Amino acid sequence: MSESLKEKTPKVEKVAKAQKLVGVKGMNDILPPDSARWEWLEGQVRALMARYAYRNVRLPIVEPTALFVRGLGEVTDIVEKEMYSFEDRLNGEQLTLRPEGTAGLVRSVVEHNLLYEGGKRLYYMGPMFRHERPQRGRYRQFHQIGAEVLGFGGAEVDAELILLANDLWKVLGLKDVRLELNSLGQPAERQAHRAALIAHLEKHSDVLDEEAKRRLHSNPLRILDTKNPAMQSVVESAPRLLDFLGEASLAHFNAVKAILDANGVNYSINPRLVRGMDYYNLTVFEFITTSLGSQGTICGGGRYDYLIEQVGGKPAPAVGWALGVERVLELIKEQGEALPDLAPDVYAIIPETAALPVAMQVLQTLRACGVSAQMHAGTGEGMGSMKSQFKKADGSGARFALVFGAEELSQGQVTVKSLRDGEGAQRRETLSTVATWAHTLQSTL
Ligand code: ATP
Ligand code: MG
Repeated sequence: MSESLKEKTPKVEKVAKAQKLVGVKGMNDILPPDSARWEWLEGQVRALMARYAYRNVRLPIVEPTALFVRGLGEVTDIVEKEMYSFEDRLNGEQLTLRPEGTAGLVRSVVEHNLLYEGGKRLYYMGPMFRHERPQRGRYRQFHQIGAEVLGFGGAEVDAELILLANDLWKVLGLKDVRLELNSLGQPAERQAHRAALIAHLEKHSDVLDEEAKRRLHSNPLRILDTKNPAMQSVVESAPRLLDFLGEASLAHFNAVKAILDANGVNYSINPRLVRGMDYYNLTVFEFITTSLGSQGTICGGGRYDYLIEQVGGKPAPAVGWALGVERVLELIKEQGEALPDLAPDVYAIIPETAALPVAMQVLQTLRACGVSAQMHAGTGEGMGSMKSQFKKADGSGARFALVFGAEELSQGQVTVKSLRDGEGAQRRETLSTVATWAHTLQSTL
């Protein structure tokens, strides 16, 4: 090596290696092949929502902090300890990464006066953020799919939403999901229950944990939602809100149950089901599985007739649910469902770079005909040996290899070689008539 060349060669060994950056704890990358299952699930949801005539909304991930404090309630797990809140450095606004979807949706419905010409059936999908202890089925960035019906007060939409969720479990092939129902009544009924509940909890103050003691007078109903095993018996013996419901609330609850009964939906009444946010009234429900350990609630929802007014809108009733995508996918996996097949129909083998322009033209036509085609790509110094290309073709799982060899091309043809039948049967096809034979390459799945 000449002196001048030596000077120009960078001294690689002396360059400090950049420190590897890793993602934020509890926030996961969703990568192939798992992402295929996500796409499949999203596709099933979109198709089902269309069948129920629910329309999609896409809302911001960041909202004013006040929306969640006012909407979800100050004395809730989410607002007290789980929100990612920050100040916008440029204008001092208090902002929060959305911990759930309902408050933002209601904000949007009010802001755009969407109920002006009647009720709406809407759905959303997307990431939510809660600062929780990461564990199986519990993450800091997780994903929800939510369905919300706004502007209708009747029990029939509560039931429709439950039927929709139930259908979703069916199309996703989920077994072992049960439905729990309760009614939280109306504010006045809750007020009467509250006094009885406080008296009961005070009698057992020795078993209340710190959080429960703090909430005893600010939000005693929230105590029923505790996950503390030591408090389960006091919670179970607490006065039941159901016993405090008046005629109208009971009639609403019975109407929901009658529709579910008529449609063969099984459920059980859980008088202690209160849900984690303060905005609920009347019907509340959860879909639960025993297959996922303690993170068994895959979907929860209920009526929230006062939330729209609370965020400044004209009073209007509403009801909805949200499901946890990670938990639903975990359940699908648990049941041993195979991943969707990601293999392309064909893998293009291109021995010489000179063949690239013609080969790529053919692949474009194949793709336009609906064939999935993966092209062999080189290192920048040529395409690599036939042997290594065939190895890659096998690895891709493709059903056919297309070989764009010089000999074939000189006759205006390409070799189609079967990769999956073990015998490697091959044939020639004519390049100028791609569209007529493209369908023979497509998987029948
Ligand atoms: P949990 O009692 O398990 O904390 P939650 O009552 O806080 O659930 P919701 O606010 O009702 O949950 O959210 C609806 C669904 O979203 C839950 O049933 C669950 O499937 C999912 N979910 C909630 N929090 C998380 C999380 N941190 N990670 C993954 N999924 C979650
Ligand atoms: Mg929670």
